[in-house]
Amino acid sequence: MAERVLSFEQALAEVLQHARILAAPREQQHLDLLAAHGRVLAAPIATPRDQPPFDRSTRDGYAIRAEDFSAGQSLRLIGAVRAGESWLGPPLAAGQAIEIMTGAPLPTGADAVVMLEHVTVDGETIRLAQPRNIAAGDHIVARGSEAHAGNTVLSAGRRLDAAEIAVAASCGCAQLHVFAQPKVSIIATGDELVELGEHTEPWQIYNSNSYALAALVKQNGAEPHRLSIARDNLNDLRDRLTAARNSDLVLFSGGVSAGKFDLVEQVLNEAGAEFFFTGAKIQPGKPIVFGRLSHGVYFFGLPGNPISTQVCFHLFVAPLLRALSGETEITPRFAEAHLAEPTRANPDLTRFLPAELTSSVDSATIRLIGWQGSGDLAANARANCYCVLPPHTADFAAGETVRVLLR
Ligand code: AMP
Ligand code: MG
Repeated sequence: MAERVLSFEQALAEVLQHARILAAPREQQHLDLLAAHGRVLAAPIATPRDQPPFDRSTRDGYAIRAEDFSAGQSLRLIGAVRAGESWLGPPLAAGQAIEIMTGAPLPTGADAVVMLEHVTVDGETIRLAQPRNIAAGDHIVARGSEAHAGNTVLSAGRRLDAAEIAVAASCGCAQLHVFAQPKVSIIATGDELVELGEHTEPWQIYNSNSYALAALVKQNGAEPHRLSIARDNLNDLRDRLTAARNSDLVLFSGGVSAGKFDLVEQVLNEAGAEFFFTGAKIQPGKPIVFGRLSHGVYFFGLPGNPISTQVCFHLFVAPLLRALSGETEITPRFAEAHLAEPTRANPDLTRFLPAELTSSVDSATIRLIGWQGSGDLAANARANCYCVLPPHTADFAAGETVRVLLR
């Protein structure tokens, strides 16, 4: 089997190219609004009425005719309208004002709202506290200005986070059509691994990767299936691959490095799998493998080192998984920040180092977390992102702008 080791950009482009041609999942579910949180919308949502449905005041104040106040007139109060009511009196005439609350509909005849704080009130008379320009439309959101009845306000393929749930609720949707979740088989490999709850000898370690991957799969709106640990032998690996046959994506952890007992690629190869890459010039995560099984299901062979596993998930697995979920927005999310301290890095690799991003309103600073390498789970948990150090540069100065992989 030919090795194919790509740069980070090439590897990501390869994954995205496959992800973008995936058809949306065929199966759909009809779920209650909150049960749909985190899922992917399968049918667009159109607003059944104009948004807002009436000319809405955005301030507590007075509904007026802008031209009256512009001329410096004092105005006579003829009533009040609050949110949840509609003004039932006669249309506002010249020289009149109506007290109005935030969220109330603008009475007919008025064309602006002047803020309470800008007005002095003397019995039934109001006037501007100081001269100021009042224009038609001030502090009003016009009916239909956000969306007209029938307009699409959420497209199919959107992940339903709080903002999307709010839009659906504002359209009165108590239930939504979402795509069925892809099923992801997770196969941890290694003779040294022990399941939680079992006795550990000093040379053994708990299988933490299956749990990290299951959590990441859930976080991306899919359904994890943790298979039992595969030992580093061909029979076990073949057996797990067969057990994973009916899933939508297969994730191996471990067994993809160059060691004598790294047999995952061999088993995939004999099963007729296609390999798109067998490594990426990244650290952690260099031995990552991406390919497709003979029946069309994609797989990743993730390096067993726990931080490598997680970084590779964020970089490569998440985009493919989001596409399998029917989501249209699939690229990993990167931001920018200033390095807190000078840093040296291996110029042959793109590095993704556990780091802490501290941001204020006007700046974002990133500080690397001290770690013992790609097995240091506690350091990874102290981090809140990964600092991206590009290849071809060895030294990075304090204050330099770097990319940040958000997680
Ligand atoms: P491998 O990729 O199989 O060579 O494993 C690389 C390192 O990751 C070794 O130190 C393993 O013990 C560790 N490792 C492999 N699989 C897991 C796992 N499921 N959970 C925690 N650590 C693992
Ligand atoms: Mg191993």
